[in-house]
Amino acid sequence: MTTACVIGWPIAHSRSPLIHNYWLREDDIAGAYDKRAVPPDELPRIIDEIRSGALAGCNVTVPHKEAALDLVDEADETARAVGAVNTIWREGGRVHGQNTDVGGFLANLDERAPGWDAAPLSAVVLGAGGAARAVLYALRLRKAADVRIVNRTLERAEDLAQEFATPDTPMRATPWRDLSRALDEATLLVNATSLGMAGSETLPMPEHLMMSAGAVVADLVYVPLETPLLRAAAQSGLRTADGLGMLLHQAVPGFEKWFGVRPKVTDELRRLVEADIARSPA
Ligand code: NAP
Repeated sequence: MTTACVIGWPIAHSRSPLIHNYWLREDDIAGAYDKRAVPPDELPRIIDEIRSGALAGCNVTVPHKEAALDLVDEADETARAVGAVNTIWREGGRVHGQNTDVGGFLANLDERAPGWDAAPLSAVVLGAGGAARAVLYALRLRKAADVRIVNRTLERAEDLAQEFATPDTPMRATPWRDLSRALDEATLLVNATSLGMAGSETLPMPEHLMMSAGAVVADLVYVPLETPLLRAAAQSGLRTADGLGMLLHQAVPGFEKWFGVRPKVTDELRRLVEADIARSPA
C-alpha cells in the first residue's frame, strides 16, 4: 500500500491527514496518509525511508522545511528561491523536494479574489519569516509593481527586500508606524506573521482598514478561520482570502506525486476542515 505522511515537531494539530484521507476516500485509492512527530535529528532517517521506497513521500512542516532543502537530492527552483521544502517524493531513485506554499498562496487568491493581481499590483506584506518568503516569491512571479515588507524586526524585512526584489518588483522594508500610509496605496495586504492565531496576540492594526476600493486582504493564519484582520477587512468592504484556502491548495501537488491522481479542492473538503477547526480551535 502506498503510504505518505506529514512530518513536524510538534505535529498533533496538523490538518493534512484530514485533507489527504478525504482525497484517498474520494478517489477510492488504497493508500494511507498519517502524521509523524519527527524530532530534528530524525529527519535524515525519514529522507532515507523515502529514498528506499518504504515511504512514498511526505509533507514537511515546522521546524523542518529549511533543513529538508539540504537533505533532498533535487529541489525545484521555487524551493531553492524560498529556501524551504514542504513536499517530498521519490522519482527515478532520487528524492525530490518542492515548495508548494507559493502555488497554494496564488491558487487561493486566484480562486477567492479573481483579478487580485491586476496591474499595478501594490502589496503590503506583514512578516519576514518562512511564510513571508513564499509570499514574496509569489508576488515576484506575478510581477507586483511595488511591495512593502512590514515586520517587528525591521532588519529581517530589510534582508528580505534585498533578497527578493527584482527590477520589475521593487521591495522596501517599512516600519509598523508607517503602515497606515502604506495601506493607502496598496491593492493587497497579506498577513504572513503568526499574529491572529488562536491563543496569540492580535495584529497591531489601525482600527479601520483604509485601502482602495477593490483591495484584497489575505491572512495565512487559518485558526481561527476568520481572524480579527479578516473580520476588519470584511467590515471595511474589502475582499478577503483566508489561510485555509492556501492550506488546501498547497496539498494538491504532493497527493498527485504520491498517489497518481490530481485531487480537487472542493467546497465539501473545505467544509470538512472548517468543521474540524470549529471543533478543536488550536
Ligand atoms: P515564522 O518564520 O516563525 O515567522 C513569524 C513572523 O511573525 C515573523 O515575521 C515575526 O516577526 C512575526 N511575529 C511573531 N510574533 C510576533 C509578535 N508578537 N509581534 C509582531 N510580530 C510577530 O513563522 P512562519 O512559518 O513564517 O508562519 C507564519 C504564519 O503563517 C503562521 O501562523 C503559520 O501557521 C502560517 N502559515 C500558513 C500557511 C497556510 O497554508 N495557510 C502556510 C505557511 C504558514 P519577527 O521577525 O520580528 O520575529
